[in-house]
Amino acid sequence: MNVNIKSLKMRFYGAKDIDNLAQLSRLSEQERLAMKAVAQVLPFRTNNYIVEQLIDWDNIPDDPIFRLTFPHQEMLDSQDCNPMIQLLTENAPKAVLKEAANEIRRRLNPHPAGQKEYNVPTLNGQPVPGIQHKYRETVLIFPTAGQTCHAYCTFCFRWPQFVGLDDLKFATRESGIFQQYLQQHQEVSDVLLTGGDPMTMKAWQLALYIEPLLEPEFDHIQTIRIGTKSISYWPYRYVTDEDADNTLRLFEKIVQRGKHLAIMAHYEHWKELDTPVAQAAIRRIRATGAQIRTQAPLVRHINDSAETWAKMWQMQVSLGCIPYYMFVERQTGAKDYFEIPLVRGWEIYREAIQQVSGLARTVRGPVMSALPGKVAIDGVSEIGGEKVFVLSFLQGRESDWCKRPFFARFDADATWLNDLKPAFEEDKFFYENQLEEILTRKSLKD
Ligand SMILES: *Cc1c(COP(=O)(O)O)cnc(C)c1O
Ligand code: SF4
Repeated sequence: MNVNIKSLKMRFYGAKDIDNLAQLSRLSEQERLAMKAVAQVLPFRTNNYIVEQLIDWDNIPDDPIFRLTFPHQEMLDSQDCNPMIQLLTENAPKAVLKEAANEIRRRLNPHPAGQKEYNVPTLNGQPVPGIQHKYRETVLIFPTAGQTCHAYCTFCFRWPQFVGLDDLKFATRESGIFQQYLQQHQEVSDVLLTGGDPMTMKAWQLALYIEPLLEPEFDHIQTIRIGTKSISYWPYRYVTDEDADNTLRLFEKIVQRGKHLAIMAHYEHWKELDTPVAQAAIRRIRATGAQIRTQAPLVRHINDSAETWAKMWQMQVSLGCIPYYMFVERQTGAKDYFEIPLVRGWEIYREAIQQVSGLARTVRGPVMSALPGKVAIDGVSEIGGEKVFVLSFLQGRESDWCKRPFFARFDADATWLNDLKPAFEEDKFFYENQLEEILTRKSLKD
């Protein structure tokens, strides 16, 4: 099955390579300097597979995969970027650069949607770092060793985890604490390993977290999900890497023990599915009995067209993957650069879904993963003479909120839930009082 796929040794590229990466020589010196300035603030990492096989260098800087992994001047405010450029021109000492970068980072809303305050649960009265439990049936776990990625997406809201600001870091102490927590929570059916990218871990590290959950005492855990971008950023992980076969054997074991293994794969663009090694990785993962479900945020400059999404979903379905979520980009990091009005997101979703068959219409979107829950924009309508957004929860902090339609005043510029006001002169959305109660209860407990 893997004929003609030669192994590749991984090489990372970061800020220090901007001057000597041959492919970048077609940019001007000024552009490279700006790139370095942005790379001081937003984490920059790419690798030789992305550089050699995913990016079309005849199409930079507009190539979507280039935008996805390489920093670009406009990702920062000019008020932030210009002083950084100045410091680099002056050869400022490392410590000065670092302090200037941290100063900018702190203003970039690194932990949106109350992630840090409200989602960390407690075990025997102590907070459990490395776990988030927001929706009753699903627990997110963040293995410490998986808090990095094979490359970094420029829009990513997880970036505080990569840059060494320790007080912001979600970290996992150890698998044993996770097990204790899961034992005490029989209502949990799904465990989602996430990061960073847990597939940056070796098979034996993954097994430390996963294998205990295959024992009879965890019969309530029916599904193990792994959130990963590795099939896109480093498909060799499943094909020719030394660890590839051990990883697939672990996947097989999960399936053989009667659990559902769902690989939640991030794909921003169909180009990430278009290389022989990317397709071989998908085939090999599916052959273990795992399902691959796909999700991505809608991001300006990368995938803000219906054609891109329609083609991506079609390719995913033909490769046997199941399109799952289209997210609205979160309000964090370089959001001004990447964000798209909600109404435009809805139009793109609609135009895209009209072009694909029912098998690709499993994808839900556009969805905001916000403080009260996952809110979908179901449409724009006119009710009693008022133009409104029709919204609904796909997931709520209270299960009962799910799938109850609600309405917000139409706003062409809104990019997030907190830009929206209730329609029909109401002063609150239906869930707001209850949400306040839940959050108060949580902060009292902590
Ligand atoms: C999306 C999400 C989940 C999983 O939700 P599903 O609808 O089951 O895919 C769980 N926890 C958090 C915090 C999430 O954002
Ligand atoms: S792979 Fe995921 S966690 Fe890693 S940088 Fe991209 S979006 Fe963020």
